Amino acid sequence: MKILIANPGSTSYKCKLYDMADMKILFQASVERIGDKEEGIFSYLFNDGEKIIVKKKIPDYFAAIEITLETLKEKFSIEDVSAVGFKTVHAKGITGCVELTDEVLKAMEDFRLLAPVHTDVYITAISVFKKLLKTTPLIGLFETHFHKNIPPEAYMYGIPYKYFEQYGIRKYGFHGSSHRFIGMRAKELYSADKVISCHLGGSSSVCAIKDGWSVDVSMGMSPQSGLLNAKRVGDLDSFALLYLMEKENLSIKEAADILMSKSGIYGISCISGDFRDIETEMGKGNKKAELAFKTFAYYVKRYIGEYLAVLNSADCIVFTAGAGQNSPALRKEILSGMENLGIVLDDSKNEVNPKEGLISAKESKILIAVIPTNEEFIVAKEVQKYLANN
Ligand code: ADP
Repeated sequence: MKILIANPGSTSYKCKLYDMADMKILFQASVERIGDKEEGIFSYLFNDGEKIIVKKKIPDYFAAIEITLETLKEKFSIEDVSAVGFKTVHAKGITGCVELTDEVLKAMEDFRLLAPVHTDVYITAISVFKKLLKTTPLIGLFETHFHKNIPPEAYMYGIPYKYFEQYGIRKYGFHGSSHRFIGMRAKELYSADKVISCHLGGSSSVCAIKDGWSVDVSMGMSPQSGLLNAKRVGDLDSFALLYLMEKENLSIKEAADILMSKSGIYGISCISGDFRDIETEMGKGNKKAELAFKTFAYYVKRYIGEYLAVLNSADCIVFTAGAGQNSPALRKEILSGMENLGIVLDDSKNEVNPKEGLISAKESKILIAVIPTNEEFIVAKEVQKYLANN
């Protein structure tokens, strides 16, 4: 069985074709700069070939998806693709692994305000696939699914109960496929049952995992909450927002724009939401960059502390995603001064920055690891399960 995993971003599109028998990737492609005035970059790779890079104008999503499917057809038949899987984000009243019917798309629209960037590109990409592949099932694994067992006391907000019932206002949690993979891999590698997974990238969250499922997560009703993100706000006192809206006379749209594209690491540092730029600027003595770095690390430390309490300690703390996997300085800042909790980093292992492996000192009671995440793997497996059961 072959399953194609489609991964649309705000100006990019990536896909991978899996052979589900051995989880080998048969074909992968990436299109960048969709809709740009300049030429876009289309690159692809078959399992038995070399990476090919083509520069051409890619006016829209239709063109991006069409070029990848046409290329895939050079070696594989579309009829052999059993389904296209998507790492869908959020939909009102729907989670799990489901066929992306018009009803599901409508439920995604209903929650659009909570994750507008992701929702828009997913709805666009799914609509393009519906036009191009009329009979292939399109299946979405919602990012909220992994958090389905979070107990009510962890997901309720202190608002009138009727709003919870009427509008579904509660914590949902995101990055489900990533945290699920980390929980699975930490169990395989280190027999860890209680895992604190730190997904630190352009978008970041910390998750408490027990026996393979999330029991709490830093993101709430929307992916803009919890940790600071590159340009998205993270936790903010709801009355601070009301005060700001009153002072600046902001509409909902204007406030959402500030919280989603001008805040987070970028908002505090005033220069960038990328940790590589932040670390370079810190090296030059930039105080705002240092403040952004330290604030982010403090938030992560605080969530680790929360989840040590929730889990009654942990077997393993895992760092993953762009910054989690690649920034020894960030990991060191986060874990400094936690020795009394049994968390001790091995500085030299941390600096070596293993692709996958332990970075904790011998005396550390809690293991500390770096593990590369693999969200597509989880989506492909869940889509396969869906096809077997439906
Ligand atoms: P996403 O944007 O989907 O979260 P990633 O998980 O790949 O994607 O995270 C990308 C982010 O990871 C970058 O924006 C940057 O902040 C951080 N990052 C990537 N490489 C490094 C590195 N070598 N050092 C520090 N941070 C890095």
